[in-house]
Amino acid sequence: MARGRPARRILDSYTVKHCSKIVRPGDCVLMRPSDSSKPSYVARVEKIDSDSRGGNVRVHVRWYYRPEESIGGRRQFHGSKELFLSDHLDVQSADTIEGKCTVHSFKGYTKLDAVGNEDYFCRFEYNSSNGAFNPDRVAVYCKCEMPYNPDDLMVQCEGCTDWFHPTCVEMTPEEAQRIDHFYCYNCAAEDPGELHVSDGKVDKKRRRG
Ligand SMILES: [Zn+2]
Ligand SMILES: [Zn+2]
Repeated sequence: MARGRPARRILDSYTVKHCSKIVRPGDCVLMRPSDSSKPSYVARVEKIDSDSRGGNVRVHVRWYYRPEESIGGRRQFHGSKELFLSDHLDVQSADTIEGKCTVHSFKGYTKLDAVGNEDYFCRFEYNSSNGAFNPDRVAVYCKCEMPYNPDDLMVQCEGCTDWFHPTCVEMTPEEAQRIDHFYCYNCAAEDPGELHVSDGKVDKKRRRG
């Protein structure tokens, strides 16, 4: 080990006192914000160290930003549990860790049966100095050409496989949940048998196959 100046020790893990959860590098944690009226900060732990006697434990973290903390602010397609992995590194006292959380991939998040309090998702990396996102483009859906917000109910067209917001295709959310088959306005119009159909009632029947 180092001689002379006491070196800091690298730790494999840190146990959060009040909940006995074990935090290791690579884990995501909730950290107490300086302003208690704000939601917890979310960070990914990169490294844990202590002084030479195992005290003064610090975590080296990479912050996740919430959409409202980004330069562009929250947009309509941002999910309520969306986070951006930033390039903002920091060192914090391990005492500020409130608990652990899981930051899922976008796909993983959309496949969760139930979203718990500690479930988040991340599909963008965020440059905190210039506000740029990586990737800087994302697939868009529906007539309104918006990226997918996993909080929103969408219906898939069996013709073109595009996804649509019920409200964008004049459907109520209840109707959207009930239907088994859906064809969007374009695909319904492409079907020669349906070209003459403009009556809403018939159109609805067709959607239900
Ligand atoms: Zn839409
Ligand atoms: Zn379609």
